[in-house]
Amino acid sequence: MKIKLNENEEIVKIVKDGLAKTGGYCPCRRERTEDNKCICKEFREQIKDDSFEGYCHCMLYYKSNED
Ligand code: SF4
Repeated sequence: MKIKLNENEEIVKIVKDGLAKTGGYCPCRRERTEDNKCICKEFREQIKDDSFEGYCHCMLYYKSNED
């Protein structure tokens, strides 16, 4: 399993700028809660889920199940 940044540098920049503005809270969610701090609870659970492969909600990260 690997976690990579999106290969699209423009998306990475937009999401990272968003995270800098929110102080680390997910830029694509409204609620500023612990669960929404990057890496958010949703993506942490997707990382644990062997059947999940794909981008996090904001598309900053990509989880690949290949070694
Ligand atoms: S892991 Fe992705 S969806 Fe979750 S907070 Fe970070 S950028 Fe947003």
